[in-house]
Amino acid sequence: AKEQGRNRFCYYSDDLEHQFKQRQSVEKLIRTSIENDKIEVYYQPKVALGSQKIVGVEALVRLRDTNNQIILPVEFIPLAEETGLINALGESVLKQSCYAAKEWLDKGFRIKVAVNISAKQFTDKNFCNFVAQTLQMSGLPSELLELEVTESALMEDFEVTKSMLNDLAVLGLTIAIDDFGTGYSSLSYLKLFPVDVLKVDQSFVRDMMVDSQSMDIVKTITSLAHSLSLLIVAEGVEEKQHLNKLIDLGCELGQGYYFYKPMPKEEFDKLLV
Ligand code: C2E
Ligand code: CA
Ligand code: CA
Ligand code: CA
Repeated sequence: AKEQGRNRFCYYSDDLEHQFKQRQSVEKLIRTSIENDKIEVYYQPKVALGSQKIVGVEALVRLRDTNNQIILPVEFIPLAEETGLINALGESVLKQSCYAAKEWLDKGFRIKVAVNISAKQFTDKNFCNFVAQTLQMSGLPSELLELEVTESALMEDFEVTKSMLNDLAVLGLTIAIDDFGTGYSSLSYLKLFPVDVLKVDQSFVRDMMVDSQSMDIVKTITSLAHSLSLLIVAEGVEEKQHLNKLIDLGCELGQGYYFYKPMPKEEFDKLLV
């Protein structure tokens, strides 16, 4: 029994040590990717549901490990947020996104680019300046930039977020609430913050054909958005029947594997021409 206990302790500590090493190597990968300008951005098209024309893209960050394998955000965003590396990482994504959208514009394509912003980035006093500077340097008209913020990020520090969003809105960009419906139930912030777009969380879209509650949520969010004159984007559109139902409901924009998966810039460039 004693032996067993000892073994169990060993496994336990091995496990902790493994986790620790894992975190260390991910942190190192984030750092070196930032230092060597190796933060990659994939773009996932957003389409007008009626015409299926591409009207925008969402920028989604990717890292590449030492074996040249793509690492998804779920593996490193939480750690980037904890360590503060999210600021430099986010700046790289924003910069690449603005320059990419300007390049598309110069080729004659008005593609709005949406960039995900962590709550942590709002606490960076310089964030708004950085956005203004990046717009200016890239030459991207501000109406072609959207920032996606989650509900929970908005609630983290109400006053700071509010003044930050107002400063950003003055620049002329738009603000989307991401994963809408999964966070806080208080909707009052929709009046208090300068919000333009609601993104219905993909879990509701995925389940709406099999679960009447999800369907009701999608319906309710759509009519809420319309009565507040907000644009609505349905995420996670994977099936033709999702598309048809969303069009029925009067949802304007969609994003999901049914249309396109996230892709490297070169691939999106080819798609445009
Ligand atoms: P999100 O903002 O909700 O992004 C949508 C996620 O759903 C993306 O995963 C996308 O690849 C995936 N997706 C798109 N269409 C479909 C579909 O039809 N079906 C399914 N099952 N999934 C779909 P990804 O790229 O792994 O990103 C995950 C999350 O990581 C994002 O969720 C976002 O919260 C965060 N993230 C990504 N890029 C950035 C970034 O540059 N900065 C920050 N702060 N967070 C980011
Ligand atoms: Ca998003
Ligand atoms: Ca989302
Ligand atoms: Ca999400």
